[in-house]
Amino acid sequence: MAGQQADGSLLVGVLALQGDFQAHKSVLEALGATVREVRTPAQLADLDALVLPGGESTTMTLGIEREGLAEPLRALRRSGVPILGTCAGLILADRDHLALMDMRAQRNAFGRQVHSFEADLDLGLDGGPVRAAFIRAPWITDPGPGVELLAQVDGHAVAAREGSVTVLSFHPEISGEHRLHARFLEEALQHRRDRGSAPSDRFS
Ligand code: GLN
Repeated sequence: MAGQQADGSLLVGVLALQGDFQAHKSVLEALGATVREVRTPAQLADLDALVLPGGESTTMTLGIEREGLAEPLRALRRSGVPILGTCAGLILADRDHLALMDMRAQRNAFGRQVHSFEADLDLGLDGGPVRAAFIRAPWITDPGPGVELLAQVDGHAVAAREGSVTVLSFHPEISGEHRLHARFLEEALQHRRDRGSAPSDRFS
């Protein structure tokens, strides 16, 4: 049965070819999910959700090609399994990479490493704005009609959603911010319910 763990927890994959997948893993496990590091197409089976982490999008793209992961990742997107991309993960999701979302990412748009910064973003979450860490971050350009822009910095879109895919230019996983991952897990639980798997009360 898809994603059903012995303890009823959600099974969340984290692409683990490169980058800060460990940080996502820690947050997701702290929230009660079971996490599987994904490096091969077979490891995408039965996931309730998938995270594309931050890191270096060029290196990750080479890994995706090497492992034959591009089409299986697109198939996962078509299946409606919730996908969260942060920073380099946002870049992977764009039209020029995996095309998981109808938008284009402008890499290193805010400048180089020295231009990393933090900002408070209102994403409509209980508890107030999100403290967001931007590290050589991309921004979103040219969104298609189905893309909902969720937050901006200096007039540039830094968070967006289209169907089951959410992308963030920043890194909630490194700033002690768990609410976006919690919301992502709620979405994963809803997806599991919608497709008729056994319900879990863990995140309800
Ligand atoms: N600048 C990186 C890239 O283009 C992304 C940075 C990040 O994920 N923090 O891949």
